[in-house]
Amino acid sequence: MLSYSQLQTYRRCPKQYEYAFVKKNPRQISPGESFGSSIHNTLKKFGELELTEKKKNPPSREQLSLLSENQTFSPEQAINLTTLITLWRECFIAAGYVSRAETDARLMQGEAMLRLFFDWWSEEERTVIGIETGFKLSIPGVAGELTLSGRIDRTERTKTGIRIIDYKTTPPVTQPQADADLQLSLYAMAAQEKWGEAPTELILLFINEEGVTERKTQRNTGQRKDALAAIRNIHEHISSRDFRPVPSVNTCRGCPYKFICGARAV
Ligand code: SF4
Repeated sequence: MLSYSQLQTYRRCPKQYEYAFVKKNPRQISPGESFGSSIHNTLKKFGELELTEKKKNPPSREQLSLLSENQTFSPEQAINLTTLITLWRECFIAAGYVSRAETDARLMQGEAMLRLFFDWWSEEERTVIGIETGFKLSIPGVAGELTLSGRIDRTERTKTGIRIIDYKTTPPVTQPQADADLQLSLYAMAAQEKWGEAPTELILLFINEEGVTERKTQRNTGQRKDALAAIRNIHEHISSRDFRPVPSVNTCRGCPYKFICGARAV
């Protein structure tokens, strides 16, 4: 069994993977990780609230199909900006910051970002069908057996099909990068298994103080095959214990093992 997070760590730097998952070196949570977890936990709770409300009174597929382009259902009473900000304060993790001033600044930053998220969220009626949906995907063509596990942040039913959303608190990637993103290819395959239909939209949703940026993409059969080949390739390298470091200023700067790694670039 390999998790997507392990796969991602190996792609970032095989040596970092070895420190984290083979040697299991302890590490401190970074400010970026702490902040990202706080945002994800808040949006998870907010999404769960949406799921609960929708279950009480779900709009039918027929109702959705009758909506014109600019029509929306009214948001449920309990799902509002005040609720979102309250959840943020409850979910905020204070660990990882060096001072009270930094902690307070991050708390304010997150609130500003979530206000922008709420504006984005309010732009249309949303029918959530999955929040933090776990999956296990069997990867064919691997000697022995390989199962890849992961979680999809948010899944919505739209008038045209299924929309997968992955939240990011990093700066936005380019459209070509989103089109080639391995994580989204994996989610496309997992969603098809889970809901029995290929998602019509895959979105990386970048939430920053400057605004919310969507990178919207899709996956065809060829891209899915390429993703499977990439996963098999990484698995082969891990199985053969190829943990050669791939240092770079950007990767090493954010690496939690940089103080024990002799190959670091910073
Ligand atoms: S410091 Fe750089 S080279 Fe070393 S493990 Fe971390 S990312 Fe890899």
